[in-house]
Amino acid sequence: MLLLARLTCSDPECPADAEEAVETLEELEELACECGCTWELLAVSLDATEVAALA
Ligand SMILES: [Zn+2]
Repeated sequence: MLLLARLTCSDPECPADAEEAVETLEELEELACECGCTWELLAVSLDATEVAALA
C-alpha cells in the first residue's frame, strides 16, 4: 500500500514542510518532528501505480 501525505505544522518557525509517499502510518510518525506537526493524508493506493485521491 502507498500513502501520500503532506506535513503541516502550526509552528511558523518549523522547517518541516514536505510531501512524502510512505507505505505505513508508522513511517509518517517517524518522519514528523516533535513540535506538533500533523500529516494530512492526500491519497492512498493499494497499488503503487494507481494513487486514488481521498477527497
Ligand atoms: Zn513542526
